[in-house]
Amino acid sequence: MKISISAGHNKNTGAEAYNGDDEWTFNKRLEAAILNAFDSSGYDFDVKTHERDGSLGYTSAMNKLAGEIKSNGSDVCLELHFNSASPSANGYEFLYYYSSSNGKALASYLSDHFEGLGFAKRRGTGTLAIDSGDRGSAYLRLTPCPAIIVETHFGSNADDHDLAIVTVDEQAERIVNGVVEYGKAKNIL
Ligand SMILES: [Zn+2]
Repeated sequence: MKISISAGHNKNTGAEAYNGDDEWTFNKRLEAAILNAFDSSGYDFDVKTHERDGSLGYTSAMNKLAGEIKSNGSDVCLELHFNSASPSANGYEFLYYYSSSNGKALASYLSDHFEGLGFAKRRGTGTLAIDSGDRGSAYLRLTPCPAIIVETHFGSNADDHDLAIVTVDEQAERIVNGVVEYGKAKNIL
C-alpha cells in the first residue's frame, strides 16, 4: 500500500504553539515517527514524504503536491498539522473532503485509533468534513487519493501541546494503526 505524507506549511510558516514551536518543525518530528511506525508495522507499506513548495502560493503549491502524489500512485495521503485558536480550545480532528466516502472512512478509523491518548475528541467524532470553500480544502480536493488533514491537537493550548510533545511516538503508532485498518477494510493491504 502506497502512502504519501507531508508536514503542513514550510519552515517558520503556519501556526505557532504557545511555547514558540512552529507547525512545520513539530510535524517533521511526527512525520519521522510515522515513517518508523510504518516501517515496524509488519505490513507492506511504501511511504513517500513530500515537501510543500514554499516559493508558490497555496493553491499552486497544492497543485504541484497533488501532481507528485498522483505520479507516486499513492493510495492514501496525509498532511500533518496542529490547530491554533483561543488558549482553551483543545482536541484532535481528522479533516476529509465532504464528497469523499473513502476519506470519511479513513478519518473515522484514524479518529477511533487516536482516542485514549488524552486528547479530546472534537465534535464527538474527531472528524470534520471540509467543503470546497473551506480553508485547507485545496489539499483535500486536488489530491488524487483519499486525503486527510491531521490536526493532532491545539498548539495554542498548553496542556494539549505539552501532551503532544511527549506522545509523538504513540500518535504515530495510532495513525499507522488507523491506516492499517482502512487498508484491510478496502482490501489494499
Ligand atoms: Zn496548519
